Amino acid sequence: MNRVVETYRAVFGTDPEGVWSAPGRVNLIGEHTDYNDGLVLPIALPQRTYAACSPGVDGLLRAHSAQNGETVEVRLDEVGPGTPAGWTAYVAGVMWALACDGHHVGGLDVAIDSEVPVGGGLSSSAALECSVGAAVSDLGGLGLLGDEAGRARLAAACVRAENEVAGAPTGGMDQSASLLCREGHALLLDCRNGSIEHVPLDLRGPEGDGFVVLVTDTRAEHALNDGQYAQRRTACERAATELGLDSLRDVDPQDLDAALDRLSDDELRRRARHVVTEIQRVREVVGRLRAGDLRAVGRLLDASHTSLRDDYEVSCAELDVSVEAARSAGALGARMTGGGFGGSSIALVPSGAVADAERAVREAFAARGWPEPECFAVRPDAAARRDT
Ligand code: ADP
Ligand code: MG
Repeated sequence: MNRVVETYRAVFGTDPEGVWSAPGRVNLIGEHTDYNDGLVLPIALPQRTYAACSPGVDGLLRAHSAQNGETVEVRLDEVGPGTPAGWTAYVAGVMWALACDGHHVGGLDVAIDSEVPVGGGLSSSAALECSVGAAVSDLGGLGLLGDEAGRARLAAACVRAENEVAGAPTGGMDQSASLLCREGHALLLDCRNGSIEHVPLDLRGPEGDGFVVLVTDTRAEHALNDGQYAQRRTACERAATELGLDSLRDVDPQDLDAALDRLSDDELRRRARHVVTEIQRVREVVGRLRAGDLRAVGRLLDASHTSLRDDYEVSCAELDVSVEAARSAGALGARMTGGGFGGSSIALVPSGAVADAERAVREAFAARGWPEPECFAVRPDAAARRDT
């Protein structure tokens, strides 16, 4: 955090009025369910994006990022769908979306510094939007951070920024997680109606033992933009249409086999089976967390990975290897997380086995000549906030 203040001083020559931060997120379970009106269960990471900010000049955004070293000026009356291009779309887009909601948004001088790996599937984009959105809300007296309803409205503005200004077709999980998660809890988010529930997930043991979520950024290429993501979405829509339903959420897991029999081809059957069983696994994980049965949670993580790999076909060698290596070193369970074809995996690991699990993952990658992955052990952290 001190670093972002120093960066701000170096760029703008004065002290910022304040520092706001927002976390990256990782989804424990519920993958490719968001666009099927399903359930997701993210946690906020301790890795955050920091925004040191002052109101600046009315109508003007001046933004600097320590990650790429760029300083950019954007006139706010020129912001709209597709403009500006590049990383400032996420920053200017939030201001534009809040203005569209009728809020007075003046200007902003902002320096950004982030601990969230950029492009690793841990939602650096939402952390960027939400840190800026939190600052704009506080500096402009919009009061959106004060309660969950306000935070949900801010999350919606951040989603709009990402969808319309940055042009990235994402659902709302990332922004909801970054603005609504609680420390020591997972966030059960119902993508059908936006309702949320905080599910206790206290992984600390009685004596500092306990468990961690070991996140591995495989550094493998994201390839969702080659059309795979769109193809999965289309398959789900076709399956729902063939079943006469609004979405696959409406398939009762008890009637799954009968529903699958009515689908026209095997690929559709596998895609639909993943979605329906995955939504059910989210429900089961929530139940097992409430019962304190982490071993059962681990088995459900494993089942999720198998389903994503075999039925949904969105895994890749790096994800499969990281998951298997973590399991072999004592993880209770592990799965790919995020859209797939690269990005990150998670494993539920006893604290005492973290070093072994990290080593196992690194060695498995080195043995295949792959770039070194980045591992970090996390517990559920807090949502966006003002830091100073
Ligand atoms: P993810 O959200 O999984 O990290 P995305 O592709 O959704 O990956 O978002 C990454 C993009 O967000 C980057 O290409 C960049 O435009 C922007 N971004 C995120 N964090 C920063 C940052 N700290 N500084 C500048 N741009 C950032
Ligand atoms: Mg993103």
